[in-house]
Amino acid sequence: MGMESPRNAEALAAAIRMNEVHLRDVSASLEAVIDNIPLMVFVKDAETLAFVRVNRAGEELLGLSREVLVGKSDHDFWPVEQADFFVARDRETLAKGTLVEIEEELIQTRDKGVRVLRTKKVPILGDDGAPRYLLGISEDVTDRKRSESSLYRLANIDALTGLPNRGLLRDRLDQALTRVRWNGRLVGVLVVDLDRFKSINDSLGHAVGDRLLVEAGARLCAAVRDGDTVGRVGGDDFAVVLTDVAHKEDVGLVTEKIAAALREPFCIDGTELFVTPSIGISVAPSDGADVDTLLRHAEAAMYQAKEQGRNNHQFFSPALDATVRRRFALEHLLRRAIVEEQFQVHYQPVVDLRSGAVVGMEALVRWRHPELGMVSPAEFIPLAEDTGLIVDLGEWVLRTACEQTARWIAMGHASMHIAVNLSARQCRERSLAESVGRTLRETGLPPSALMLELTETALMNNPGAGREVLERLVAQGVSIALDDFGTGYSCLGYLKSFPIAVLKVDQSFVRNITSDQRDRMIASTVVGLAHGLDLTVVAEAVETEGQLDVLRALGCDRFQGYLFSRPVPADEATTLLAAQAEGRG
Ligand code: C2E
Ligand code: MG
Ligand code: MG
Repeated sequence: MGMESPRNAEALAAAIRMNEVHLRDVSASLEAVIDNIPLMVFVKDAETLAFVRVNRAGEELLGLSREVLVGKSDHDFWPVEQADFFVARDRETLAKGTLVEIEEELIQTRDKGVRVLRTKKVPILGDDGAPRYLLGISEDVTDRKRSESSLYRLANIDALTGLPNRGLLRDRLDQALTRVRWNGRLVGVLVVDLDRFKSINDSLGHAVGDRLLVEAGARLCAAVRDGDTVGRVGGDDFAVVLTDVAHKEDVGLVTEKIAAALREPFCIDGTELFVTPSIGISVAPSDGADVDTLLRHAEAAMYQAKEQGRNNHQFFSPALDATVRRRFALEHLLRRAIVEEQFQVHYQPVVDLRSGAVVGMEALVRWRHPELGMVSPAEFIPLAEDTGLIVDLGEWVLRTACEQTARWIAMGHASMHIAVNLSARQCRERSLAESVGRTLRETGLPPSALMLELTETALMNNPGAGREVLERLVAQGVSIALDDFGTGYSCLGYLKSFPIAVLKVDQSFVRNITSDQRDRMIASTVVGLAHGLDLTVVAEAVETEGQLDVLRALGCDRFQGYLFSRPVPADEATTLLAAQAEGRG
């Protein structure tokens, strides 16, 4: 082989030349590719760790040109801890002789702030098998990380209060349960509902409501220990997980602390707002060993606290579970009842105390369930309110009662009126006046024949929107009665400022009117007050002649009650009206 013929040498040289061109082409196009990929690619000298090459994406990311970079090393550009970190990973890669992946490294760039990189480093070996270079490829994952963490927030954090949402709270509870499983400690679960939050929200606006929630959340957090979790689990519902508790009494103590914190006035936009909490408590392991059971039981206890008149706390008990189960069952049945038309309207005569004539009827809804039998409105109306079903149900009652009364008027009972109960929720519907107007037109009932009964609580709960709606109703010719007068937080100012025509004295004052001096005083005062304001007074639930005598002596105008008639179905009411007309005619 030593002696090559010139021809061969020439051919060889030509081949080498061609190969060189080819190689140059290949490496040029590789360079182009590398320069255009959106990853930082760099090459360092294995010995000195100085940069040998860097691609365009690298220049852009670091904010340094290759002229500046090449020949220098990390310590020339970055703070010492960062540079140490990079160099340590480089050395590790070279020592291992294989690919090393760095999940997350932070780098302070010249003009893009701190970026998060995911980097792969690999040694490039020379002919002798020793590392000559180190090749690095870095992906800038800052934006992805950011959106992952905002996704995390979106999925786990309540946007308004910044507190864990229901999902995250459940996780935390689950972790707490796992932790105490072996150490005999307890976990407390509190469900905290702000009483009458809805009315604040409705009357003062969502912005105020929102700020109240944020502030309430902050107070809750301040009242618990570091390891505990406070979450917002619904509109105005918070939940608290107390971990690692020694005694059940400790849960009670924290609960009292929380309640006290929430009862302090909230100052929002210069207005002092007072809120009280209803709190339900369940304690693991005695009230349940899993997340669902504990939350359900704490919620059941919270409903119990509401029923006890709000502003208190209740520990879960098994008996209570049954009440709540009935409530949930009823709620389900109630939804079906509307569809399946299980409702009826009964009518109770309203009698003029002086003449003894029936001057009107009060429409009272009845629910006859195929298995449960009659369910009392006292039980299902509050439920229908909570679930919003009252709006549909109320509209149906109104329409049915108006149709029926239009028929009675057509039969000749020309001057009678119909009283229909409205719930607080219906009064909050801004379209109430329009929907009542439409019902009157469609059923042909004159507006003057309709009286709408509202409770004081319904009025108090929406002083703003409420009055406007009432005034529009009155402008149409409808009259308004204040029902159950004396049982709510009466604020006599409302009597003057709302367009009310009739006061109904609550049955709790009528019941003992013959025996209890004070009840009689109250009734007498109410009658005086009402007459002073030019209002008609109706006594509810009159059951005896004795009661009627007292009421008559007090100057009461009208009455209703079993003494004259129970609420009866429409056909019975028709018979009753006919008999009355005949008796008087
Ligand atoms: P309310 O409007 O104060 O109705 C009077 C309640 O007293 C009725 O109870 C009636 O049956 C009862 N009552 C009448 N006379 C006597 C009596 O002599 N003695 C006694 N002890 N009670 C008497 P009911 O029908 O159970 O209704 C309870 C409440 O449910 C009503 O109180 C009203 O607030 C609500 N309600 C009834 N129907 C409707 C409705 O269609 N819509 C709305 N929103 N609420 C309704
Ligand atoms: Mg009523
Ligand atoms: Mg009443």
